[in-house]
Amino acid sequence: MRDDTTPVPRIVLMRGDITEQHVDAVVNAANSGLTGGGGVDGAILRAGGPAQRAAREALVDRIGSLPTGEAAATDAGDMPARWVIHVVGPVWSGKEDRSALLASCYSKALAVADELGARTVAFPAVSAGVYGWPMRSAAEIALTTVLATPTEVSEVRFVLFDESAHAEFTAVLQDL
Ligand code: ADP
Repeated sequence: MRDDTTPVPRIVLMRGDITEQHVDAVVNAANSGLTGGGGVDGAILRAGGPAQRAAREALVDRIGSLPTGEAAATDAGDMPARWVIHVVGPVWSGKEDRSALLASCYSKALAVADELGARTVAFPAVSAGVYGWPMRSAAEIALTTVLATPTEVSEVRFVLFDESAHAEFTAVLQDL
């Protein structure tokens, strides 16, 4: 149950591989077809094994494709986490402001986590890889959205792959 008095989660920033996290749910920076590929998506598909692949296929059979800015969960398969919450970030555009779609990935992922009963959730820097979003802006949107979203999730762990991403998230969090 979510209401205005629900606390915001504890934020943890760390470097690492999201597929290795012992959390209730890991968030995947997916594409709309949930087909895997490079970056986080491919890593989660590999680490999750056949059960993750089958769960994705079942989800696609049920919903078709996952629109940009939306979130949907599957079982994680062979990862320490129990669930994967797939979100589709927007591709960066210098001409059009797509920030609301990126923010939506975080707020909707937390809403799905609440539906699942997940209390610890690990996020990557959605859209900040192949989709080209500048890391500083991606960090600002990620952190401000999570801190503004009422949720029963008690810990949000940002798992950043490289030192520069970790430094950007750390700098943004210090300024909030
Ligand atoms: P998008 O297509 O949404 O840009 P990517 O997967 O290409 O998503 O990249 C998102 C971010 O995740 C990038 O900063 C990338 O370096 C990072 N990343 C890639 N693999 C992993 C991983 N296994 N764990 C955590 N972060 C990762």
